[in-house]
Amino acid sequence: MTRARAFGAGVALGALASATPAQQTAAPLRLAGEHVALVAHGFDAAVAAGALEVVDAVPPLIAAELGVTAAPRSAPKPEIHLYRTAEAFVAADRARTGGRFARNLACALWDGTAHVALQPEVGDAYLAQLGLPAATLRLLAHETAHVARFALCPGHRAHPRWLLDGLAFTISHRRLRALGRSAAMPDEPVFATGLATARRLATEDRLATVAELLGRATTDADDATPGRRFHELYAQHLAFACFLQQLDAGRPWTALCATLARLPADATPADADAALAACVPAAGLDAAWSTFAAALAPSWVEDHRSLATAADDPASLVQTAFADTDAIAWWTAPCPRGGALRTAVAFLPGATGQADLLLGRDDTGFVQVALVRGIGATVRRHHTDGDRWELLAEHPRPALGRAASAEIELRWSAAGHVTLTLDGDVALDRDLGCELAGAAGLGCPAGTAVRWQSPALRPAGR
Ligand SMILES: [Zn+2]
Repeated sequence: MTRARAFGAGVALGALASATPAQQTAAPLRLAGEHVALVAHGFDAAVAAGALEVVDAVPPLIAAELGVTAAPRSAPKPEIHLYRTAEAFVAADRARTGGRFARNLACALWDGTAHVALQPEVGDAYLAQLGLPAATLRLLAHETAHVARFALCPGHRAHPRWLLDGLAFTISHRRLRALGRSAAMPDEPVFATGLATARRLATEDRLATVAELLGRATTDADDATPGRRFHELYAQHLAFACFLQQLDAGRPWTALCATLARLPADATPADADAALAACVPAAGLDAAWSTFAAALAPSWVEDHRSLATAADDPASLVQTAFADTDAIAWWTAPCPRGGALRTAVAFLPGATGQADLLLGRDDTGFVQVALVRGIGATVRRHHTDGDRWELLAEHPRPALGRAASAEIELRWSAAGHVTLTLDGDVALDRDLGCELAGAAGLGCPAGTAVRWQSPALRPAGR
């Protein structure tokens, strides 16, 4: 789908201010935890303490998963660096690795340090109200899982990517789930999106075979080959870890983790592969793996990472768009005969606010019901052909967004009839003159954030 760059009813984008020069140049804050040290570049003490709370519990989780009870082998604690800006991350990465991880904005290094840039780059008001975005917390936990593994496993340099990332996904998800910051994987949008990719590859018969995974054929991304693109490899490593964890009551997974921990410091990748392959049943696994992947049931597919379980309510979601991409997340539930969507929306810090209900997504485009704070509702159709927007209806409502949250109910039929109720009043009730028989979703423009309270989608006829 063409990205909806033209989202909005003339609202100024980029509402989440980035760091001030003073924040970027202030001395880093260093907090010592029980298991790691957290070094915050450009954050106040409260944000740094929030980050430390997330990462300090990760080393015990990874030790338990690896079946290791001993204290870390290396004396210095892993050091987790968090940067306020992408520029600060890139400068640090250039100094440490010559710039190998500039594209990722997150990395774990064999020197026992991990580095994560704030993602998305939210401003002071957002940080004060909500703390670090979930995407940043997840990356902090993920990279900490890697450096903790380095400290616990003498042979970590020989670990294969399919397993090390599967392990880091598992641990980061478990950590955020324990904090109430994540739903189960199929219902947490970022993980659901990965599982949906694996499911799609399975149905397209492009899934990597077990032999390819175990043999490291999925180590390097190849952006030209379907099934081998960067996000597709990550998705398969995530799904394959989930597969192994449910296979034979998790015995292969437990054996794999124990093998990772036992590899000697001089183990070669070939040594590691032979030892790990012995943990997995040799024959007949491909059919089970592809059946598992095809049967995955994720609730969401995101166009860009943005949507995450809210800190204060497991039924609610916070959507935080990156500065240069509109946030768009689709429910996977089909709406062939229309549907109903109920939620309440709160506009998060920023000079402007816009929350987008998306419906009728098919190959030709989708309809966006934009709720703009202080302005009202605007309904537009996005046409995939030519990437253009067509205005269908408007409802001025200057009071929209003055209260802490606006109650919303949206009903639509496949034939294109829409009824929008705002705070109990019918704001729109009309035929849009286009079909609305595709998926529904939630969005917000680049550089903004919204909170969706208990969003519930009910496809028509259910
Ligand atoms: Zn990783």
